[in-house]
Amino acid sequence: MKPAKQIAAAYARYSTDEQNDKSIDDQITLCNQIAKRHGDWTFKKEFLFDDRAKSSASMYDRPGILALMIAAKSKGFNAVFCESLDRLSRDEEDLPGIFKRLQFHGIDIITLGGVTTQQDIQIRCLTGPIALKDVRDKVRRHHDARAREGLIPGGIAYGYRKKPGGQNGEREIDLAEAAVVIRIFREYVSGKSCRDIALGLTRDGIPSPSGAKHWDQGTFTHGRGDSRGMIGNRLYIGIAVWDDYTTIKSPYTGKKVRRKNKPEDVIITDVPHLRIIDQDLWDRAQSLNRGRAEKIFGKGGKRTKVSRRTTVENLIAGLLICGQCGGHMRISKSNSKRTDAAGVLASRVSCAAATSTGTCEHRKSYDLDILERTVLDGVKKHLTSPAALMEYTKAYHERWAERQKAAHINIPQKQKDLNRATVACDNAATAITELGAIPALMQRMKALEVERATLENDLEHAKAETNVIALHPAVIKKFATDIKEIHEALTGKGTNPEKMMLFRAAFRNIFDRITVHPTAARKPYEVTPLARLTAIMGAELFPTMRTADEMLAEQGGSAVPIRGAKGERDPRASNRCRPS
Ligand SMILES: [Zn+2]
Repeated sequence: MKPAKQIAAAYARYSTDEQNDKSIDDQITLCNQIAKRHGDWTFKKEFLFDDRAKSSASMYDRPGILALMIAAKSKGFNAVFCESLDRLSRDEEDLPGIFKRLQFHGIDIITLGGVTTQQDIQIRCLTGPIALKDVRDKVRRHHDARAREGLIPGGIAYGYRKKPGGQNGEREIDLAEAAVVIRIFREYVSGKSCRDIALGLTRDGIPSPSGAKHWDQGTFTHGRGDSRGMIGNRLYIGIAVWDDYTTIKSPYTGKKVRRKNKPEDVIITDVPHLRIIDQDLWDRAQSLNRGRAEKIFGKGGKRTKVSRRTTVENLIAGLLICGQCGGHMRISKSNSKRTDAAGVLASRVSCAAATSTGTCEHRKSYDLDILERTVLDGVKKHLTSPAALMEYTKAYHERWAERQKAAHINIPQKQKDLNRATVACDNAATAITELGAIPALMQRMKALEVERATLENDLEHAKAETNVIALHPAVIKKFATDIKEIHEALTGKGTNPEKMMLFRAAFRNIFDRITVHPTAARKPYEVTPLARLTAIMGAELFPTMRTADEMLAEQGGSAVPIRGAKGERDPRASNRCRPS
């Protein structure tokens, strides 16, 4: 067959320990046997590649296969032996890539099934995803069987620990944590709010279930399905519930979504030795929990599906920053009494840190629509007057000159950083050409390129002797007109949805973030929008849609506040806006 004495490489992998896969050694031995059937081969130690406990679904986090592909380039061997093709990859994109590259270097893939051909690869690509589902099903069957035996295959719930010396999934009560669980239940039935329970635990220095310093009030009653958080976890009364939910990856977003399983698939087992809460305390907590839920969501206590504006649909939601702690603000609740014309609930936003962990004092919540109007009115007031804009720009020029001076001092360091980023970029580019376009690698590359562009940009600015931004009055005027147009479209009614999208994009092109300052209850809202300088410098406000990355790359990743002209704030104005 083949000419005498050829050099062979071998690749072995096992995925999850749960299915008792053949060990790496077994697979290498098998590779030796396969090789004997295909002529005279010598395995070299440096060409034995393996990945332990790795799934074949993704190539990126398997150092073994990556090393194999890099070694293939140096053509040190003539064939790769492995048990079967799905050891190499089950991914319908990766496998042909591996095959193509090895073929290019004149390297065969030889398995139990013989020398791999293009047809083998095509068939594999059709059946691979099915096999992956097979493994998942196998693991699931295994877990289900354990759950029926009263073991707990999932994560370890707060209040329990792995039984020392016990088998996999065997739990016992962790006395210290159990005491905290009892404290939470007692405080809850005493009528304490979740927020106060969380603050108390944090104050007493008790680590939260996630190990974080701050307890999240959502831990107690927010959760999935019938087990609403800790208060609803039936394990605390000695009942283990398994498989009530499945997570699957959405083909649209790539994100994992949770689906409720059919009732007949849910496995409920009695585990009386794991009971922490006595029945009376449990019953009182449940009735209180139901009562609170019914008070909020009406009879049945179930959250009714109502359409609400998502962050994407909302003009400013994703841009809001807490004026106190600098963290993000998020939609915290909806105003169940007020809906807009389309029947969509009005949303209120508040500081995420203040609502969930109590680490920020800024507890006021804001009506999102009013906030939006405040911003738009302020924007109109301050950004549509060419004279005022000229003022802003002049002030910016002064500040910019100062920054220039500071930047000049940093040139040597910047040059060093740039060199480092350039080398990193080149390395990533080499890896991509050798291994193919692996998503995580591409991501890294993108980030590096942005970094390099930023540094280059910085350096350019720092080195320039004179830097005068020529601001043509016509540009300023156009900006003012654009803003007026955006304001009209966003506050008016009846603009068609596609046009609306364009206006929203234009708005987000101008503003980087909007800081919401704490004000007293029932006092007017106070916000500071931070605009991107390029927007005023004459960038097209209605360009083709750009991604955030592209925008950042273009601006060198910085936002510049619009500077306000002196003394223009009218304290009597009901909707104040304060471009800083
Ligand atoms: Zn805050």
